[in-house]
Amino acid sequence: MRLPIIHHPDYAVSFPGGRHFPGDKFGQLAQYLRRTGCIDEKNLFVPEEACMDWLSLVHCPRYIEAVAGQTLDRAAERRIGFPVTPWAAYRTRLSAGGAVLAGRLALQYGAACNTAGGGHHAHRDFGAGYCIFNDVAVALAVLRHEGLITRALVVDLDVHQGDGTAAIFRNDADIFTFSIHCSDNFPGRKSPGDLDIALPKGTGDADYLKALAIHLPGILDHHGPGLVFFNAGIDPHEKDDLGKLKLTEAGIRIRDQYVVDACMARGIPIASVIGGGYSSDKPRLARLHASVIEAAFSRFSSV
Ligand SMILES: [Zn+2]
Repeated sequence: MRLPIIHHPDYAVSFPGGRHFPGDKFGQLAQYLRRTGCIDEKNLFVPEEACMDWLSLVHCPRYIEAVAGQTLDRAAERRIGFPVTPWAAYRTRLSAGGAVLAGRLALQYGAACNTAGGGHHAHRDFGAGYCIFNDVAVALAVLRHEGLITRALVVDLDVHQGDGTAAIFRNDADIFTFSIHCSDNFPGRKSPGDLDIALPKGTGDADYLKALAIHLPGILDHHGPGLVFFNAGIDPHEKDDLGKLKLTEAGIRIRDQYVVDACMARGIPIASVIGGGYSSDKPRLARLHASVIEAAFSRFSSV
């Protein structure tokens, strides 16, 4: 068995996204993974849309209905950053379905990677920052509801703080939310998670990787998660259009391998989502987003 990779052709976004939303990066990521041999027909899993019952474990019914019926008001759509069309509503449910499948496969095989996801700015009753539904929160809620997990950890290394995820699990002792992000990046008002490391603008590889190595092992050992969800956003990269950190590609690859190895060495299942990454250089985005998948692929194949 090779590393399970979750992809759907409709992850590639064809709706008018926000100015920075690189909709076609998802298709390019899948092409890249096929070219490099990470994806073949044996390890490719195709998700289904998250159903209403799954979404309602996290999101409030009025918000789910407004997304489904495209009745969000303009202010709510502006906060999301693009019009919530029927296609956008379908796409966000597909992404959540992919996260649920990634979680299930990680529990079954030890690791699994989704080629989309990381809607961490979505709260219970509103979306924001290109996020409509919070796919990782939905996945954790579904797996817990089914009795497959009790305790879990979200490692969110996207450059933006995962305010939605932190708020959703704020009073939930079983789900630990850990974020390393840039203090100067969106959202302006962060929602406190269980551990937030806010780094100053311009932080590079050395200090970033030090912060990760100081905190992650202790969280894994003390919280004892039965599943880790890793948001491997690549927007801390030095050439990202939105992020203000200065990680190199080598730094991101070390980061991703470190998280994967820390979980696998402890026998903790890890599921990843790709998170943010913003640039007109789509081949670079695809290559950087593949980093976490390649990190898991190499270890998975050597087990
Ligand atoms: Zn981001």
